[in-house]
Amino acid sequence: MSTFKTIDDLDVAGKRVLVRADLNVPMADGKPSDTTRIDRTVPTIQQLTERGAKVIMLSHFGRPKGQVVPEMTLKPVAEAMGLALGKPVKFATDTIGDSAKAVVADMSDGDIAMLENVRFHAEETENDEGFASALAQLGDFYVNDAFSTAHRAHASTEALARKLPAAAGRLMQAELEALGGALGTPQKPVAAVVGGAKVSTKMEVLGNLSKKVDMIIIGGGMANTFLFANGHNVGNSLCEKDMADEARQIVADAAANGCEIVLPIDVVVAKEFAANAENKVVGIDDIPADMMALDIGPATIADVEKRLEACKTLVWNGPFGAFEIEPFDKGTNAAAQAAARLTKAGKLLSVAGGGDTVAALAHAGAADDFSYISTAGGAFLEWIEGKVLPGVAALEG
Ligand code: ADP
Ligand code: MG
Repeated sequence: MSTFKTIDDLDVAGKRVLVRADLNVPMADGKPSDTTRIDRTVPTIQQLTERGAKVIMLSHFGRPKGQVVPEMTLKPVAEAMGLALGKPVKFATDTIGDSAKAVVADMSDGDIAMLENVRFHAEETENDEGFASALAQLGDFYVNDAFSTAHRAHASTEALARKLPAAAGRLMQAELEALGGALGTPQKPVAAVVGGAKVSTKMEVLGNLSKKVDMIIIGGGMANTFLFANGHNVGNSLCEKDMADEARQIVADAAANGCEIVLPIDVVVAKEFAANAENKVVGIDDIPADMMALDIGPATIADVEKRLEACKTLVWNGPFGAFEIEPFDKGTNAAAQAAARLTKAGKLLSVAGGGDTVAALAHAGAADDFSYISTAGGAFLEWIEGKVLPGVAALEG
């Protein structure tokens, strides 16, 4: 189990604490249109200020590519942050310049400030030591609460963490604990669900998981590639025929690691990829040449449910079918609801992530009952691929 400090380990009273958050929120008419990311950083900020810290917030916003782009200012985000905290957030009109220095120098204990977009400096994405040092001069401690940017070695996520005593914020801590519980030191048996469109985008996910879990339940379009590799006719289904060798290799490698690859036994087929397209359930040996598999069938759903019931830990990335169009959301809904039910009953630790996965689990009405759903996107994917996340490694230092 990797170790990292949390804000509990820092004696922050009267100290300046630089907090790296992910405040890259969607904007409409000059205001955040969805404040989820802002709201999720509130506990960290509140707990630090209650303990008498001066909190200085850092974030990127958009991709200004090292230029000052006025439309990408964090000023409206600072205002929204103030609303979420019920306390004004002072705003510095630069990141390491005169305004930043003056705003920080003027802070009292318990105050909150936000510096301008770190990506207005090209040095940010270059992980530049000088830029990180200039940031470090504005604080006594560093807290990273931005797991979603931890896969990038940038000055405010990596170099800065090495220049000051560093710790994880509550959001980062929750994410690391949830992920650690799922793949670091999990309770066995561990199942992974890997679904989605293509095998080619999930090769590293499959390779890493097959070393860590007891079974990988394959769903979605990528199941067709595995079925094809096993000699089944998949008709018009989405299928990467040129990945058949890779699919067979994954199965062989998994078997060598003691990991079972679980494939569908029946599927729902239709002639077109469209909502309410005429469809039927067929066994995997009976997919008609002019039809495509768009979801798993009822026998597979029952099999998946039975397997989940026998597991203690679940990691989920990718839907079981074309969940965006009814009725091909059925398999994903049923499996997600089963996992949610088992989690709620205290029988399963369930962690999920991925852009479409987050949407699919919300669509299934199952999201609230999962143990943890990561909205970190790219960082979650790199974690599930077994990669070292520089922003996390710097905290473990
Ligand atoms: P995530 O974003 O969670 O990593 P993916 O992007 O890998 O997930 O996969 C999601 C996509 O896979 C969805 O757009 C879904 O429609 C598609 N998909 C799932 N099953 C099938 C299928 N049987 N045929 C075609 N597309 C599918
Ligand atoms: Mg996707």
